[in-house]
Amino acid sequence: MILQRTLKNKVSLQGIGVHSGKSSRVTLRPAQPNRGVLFVRTDLPGAPEIAAHYKNIVNTQLATTLGYGGVTLSTVEHVLAALQGCGVDNAIIEVDGPEVPIMDGSSGAFWEAIQSVGVESQLQARPYLALRKKVELKIGEKWALVEPSSHLEIHGSIEWDHPSIGYQEFHYQEGKTEFKDLAWARTFGFLRDVEILKKMGLARGGSLENAVVLDHALVLNPDGLRFPDEFVKHKILDALGDFKLAGISIQAYIRLHRGGHDLHSQLLTEIFKDPDNFEIIDVSEREEKRFLGMHAALVRGFVASF
Ligand SMILES: [Zn+2]
Repeated sequence: MILQRTLKNKVSLQGIGVHSGKSSRVTLRPAQPNRGVLFVRTDLPGAPEIAAHYKNIVNTQLATTLGYGGVTLSTVEHVLAALQGCGVDNAIIEVDGPEVPIMDGSSGAFWEAIQSVGVESQLQARPYLALRKKVELKIGEKWALVEPSSHLEIHGSIEWDHPSIGYQEFHYQEGKTEFKDLAWARTFGFLRDVEILKKMGLARGGSLENAVVLDHALVLNPDGLRFPDEFVKHKILDALGDFKLAGISIQAYIRLHRGGHDLHSQLLTEIFKDPDNFEIIDVSEREEKRFLGMHAALVRGFVASF
């Protein structure tokens, strides 16, 4: 049995939104067991809430955007990946703007912030989804294959006809892969796309400070890459963040080829649409019954001994 976890204390970060180019503040707070992750737009009247749940995904172009009741929040994936990497089940994430700040384009700053306050166990078992059947999904050249496993494993591969990327793969295994080896892998984009996006009024805050930017052949960042396989590592980070939107811990072996936010979102829908695909294991209910049973037996034994 694994216990649910939350932050020991609140922690704040400040940074710019990649699309708006405007500064916003994000505050991560502890939350009660079984609460899950909840985003709060503190800049809007009434501070509306948006649950971190795949059913609230409203856009997967460039980043994962959640929305509920007409209120949206963009770029949720990197902070969610950091929560997943730190094993945090329950948290409230307050943001005073329409986007979670991009920071340096990775999960590193969020991961460091969570580490700085620490994480603690709560007195409630962590329920999980155990996959029971193989689930497959193909969108053009992208595909996903999910198979039953006793823990979460994600095998990511990418193939880009670009001299600085090419074919890369990375295997993530929960409990074995050190999250710090992934946390600092940055998002990436191509100079031609960044220019088009800026003309469209998007990516206003996008720069070499918060992304790996490539031209037709080379990485343009003066310091180069942080890891030779930074591209596929970032894809794994995105997957960890997006799968947090399942709203429950997933036990499955997930293979992703040319993965992205749309593939992740559609994969969650595909898994949940057939109840035969999975089983929700909630040990806390079972343990509670077992504990109550033991307690009753003890009371009976105590009474009998007199
Ligand atoms: Zn990303």
